[in-house]
Amino acid sequence: MKFTLKTSILFLACCFLIINCNSLRKVEKSEIKFPINIILLIGDGMGLAQICAASVINGGLTLDIFNDIGFLKTASANDYITDSAAGATAFSTGEKTYNGAVGVGVDTLPLKTIVELAEEKNIATGLIAICSVTHATPASFYAHQKNREMHRLIANDFYDKGIDFLAGTGKPYFNIEKLLSNQYSILNGPESVTLDPQKKYIWFYNDSIHPPVAQLRSNWLAHVTNKAIQYFDQKKNGFFLMIEGSQIDWGGHNNDLNYTVSELIDFDKAVKIAYDYAQSNKNTLVIVTADHETGGLSLIDGSEKNKEIKPHYSTGHHTGIMVPVYAFGPGSHLFRGTMENTQVYKNIKYLLKL
Ligand code: MG
Ligand code: ZN
Repeated sequence: MKFTLKTSILFLACCFLIINCNSLRKVEKSEIKFPINIILLIGDGMGLAQICAASVINGGLTLDIFNDIGFLKTASANDYITDSAAGATAFSTGEKTYNGAVGVGVDTLPLKTIVELAEEKNIATGLIAICSVTHATPASFYAHQKNREMHRLIANDFYDKGIDFLAGTGKPYFNIEKLLSNQYSILNGPESVTLDPQKKYIWFYNDSIHPPVAQLRSNWLAHVTNKAIQYFDQKKNGFFLMIEGSQIDWGGHNNDLNYTVSELIDFDKAVKIAYDYAQSNKNTLVIVTADHETGGLSLIDGSEKNKEIKPHYSTGHHTGIMVPVYAFGPGSHLFRGTMENTQVYKNIKYLLKL
């Protein structure tokens, strides 16, 4: 090639661009701060209309103050309308699978979950739900079963995982002797105990099912979340904690706005505890999202002044509309934009260096 003035200028311009791009990339990389702790809060069936209704009726939510917000596409591998098992498996394994699958792929073979990866790296792990801990959402973080209805087999997958903290109902599915022989301390009901960071805990709401919050469930989710965070705060190697607002979905299936909203406000209290912790502990990332929307809810009238909403439900099932994802703390910018639900797993894996 002949070096004319024109080609020389072009060559120099290219060099300049390459150097600048490299330094730009370096700056961006050094700006990524990695969290040590991640708290993932999943509002089952919590779409934008549900959040909006709860915010109006409650006069605001903790969710309203998050700045890094994106949207998740929720379709499963075999259905545009996901169920909670495929939805949670996308979060826990980064793979789209069929509806009903718990921690397994489309071939029904086990996929390693984020909790299992964290345990391998000595990161403490915990799961909290307002339903049976063998239910699809929490189960997909530790179990590998072809079908979400296999509660006993799901419970059987729990014992040797090394999970530090598990809370919810579902006691009848567990073998208490086996829990004790795997060094679990068992708590029951609304206990006000100080948790020992050297111990592992399973905390059952009681022996039966969680009633809706409107029927005297009181402050259980916020109470247990608070205790769990105090416990995990003493762990030396960071933690991953998943908290599910399980019954927001049940209000949607019932086309019952009061049920949905009271559950969402209850869930938002757990969000506040996580958010406040991340405000004081700067190494903590809080992610709040949903597996899918439930009820096809639209808000056809309302009053912010009177805290009123007139709902209209279009189905008793889940819908395919995108759901919001909110993030606060180191790495929160990765949750901006529109992405597949599997990206939540990918971001957590990247940020915890798993
Ligand atoms: Mg669920
Ligand atoms: Zn549902």
